[in-house]
Amino acid sequence: MATLKDFRNNVKPNWCPGCGDFSVQAAIQRAAANVGLEPENLAIVSGIGCSGRISGYVNAYGFHGVHGRSLPIAQGLKMANRELTVLAAGGDGDGFAIGMGHTVHAIRRNINITYIVMDNQIYGLTKGQTSPRSSEGFKTKSTPQGSIESALAPLEVALASGATFVAQSFSSNLKQLTTLIEEGMKHEGFSLINVFSPCVTFNKINTYDWFKENIVDLEEDANYDSSNRVAAMTKLMETNGMVTGLIYQDKNRKSYEDLVAGFKPEGLANQNIKLTEAEFDKL
Ligand code: SF4
Ligand code: MG
Repeated sequence: MATLKDFRNNVKPNWCPGCGDFSVQAAIQRAAANVGLEPENLAIVSGIGCSGRISGYVNAYGFHGVHGRSLPIAQGLKMANRELTVLAAGGDGDGFAIGMGHTVHAIRRNINITYIVMDNQIYGLTKGQTSPRSSEGFKTKSTPQGSIESALAPLEVALASGATFVAQSFSSNLKQLTTLIEEGMKHEGFSLINVFSPCVTFNKINTYDWFKENIVDLEEDANYDSSNRVAAMTKLMETNGMVTGLIYQDKNRKSYEDLVAGFKPEGLANQNIKLTEAEFDKL
């Protein structure tokens, strides 16, 4: 059985020292080992950005796609190889700007993959411009007088789009992040995990200390019910999106693979076609 070491490779990340993405890399490696995967059972598809390099930094199948397009590739991969555990990964610029159309439709399609967004509220690779997650008033080279746009609330959008798994974590909380990635991998449907992953080089506002001061952890709310979509939306609005933990999970809605004809034997039942496992395997 594979251990954490089996998911490490010899490629040295070229992220800046202290970048939050190191923790996401470590959490993926731990989660993959903890859920019992072998490296050949895992594929990571990434977009463009500093965080997009992550597909080369884990010993598994890796595909470094183009900007904002990790999700179409990841969904196609999953549909073509149902045995594979598929992760998509990228940054907030990648997934919530150019890739936002794919994000919304992947969410409502509910294919069984996990999408990890490393949200540093800035464009890091291109040296620090305002991203859709930057706050109003955020000053960068592209917004020297401060951003006049409001920040996107991606998890509220996800809930409104029919998400079946919505979670958020922080690079400094490796234990929680690892657990949430494990839960996302086990979830039968599309799982979105947004990770506050500080850019120590270009974002001097949303720092590790800033996140520590502003994060509201769901572990502090013993009465929180993650199966209640209205409660999830309320919690996100109350905390201005700063809540971490498993925010929402719907275990009842079937995944795309469960419903599409010809993908699983049960899927065919929806079309009133009954096949044995052996007949199905010949398809
Ligand atoms: Fe990380 Fe920012 Fe450096 Fe990119 S520029 S590697 S996001 S710290
Ligand atoms: Mg970013």
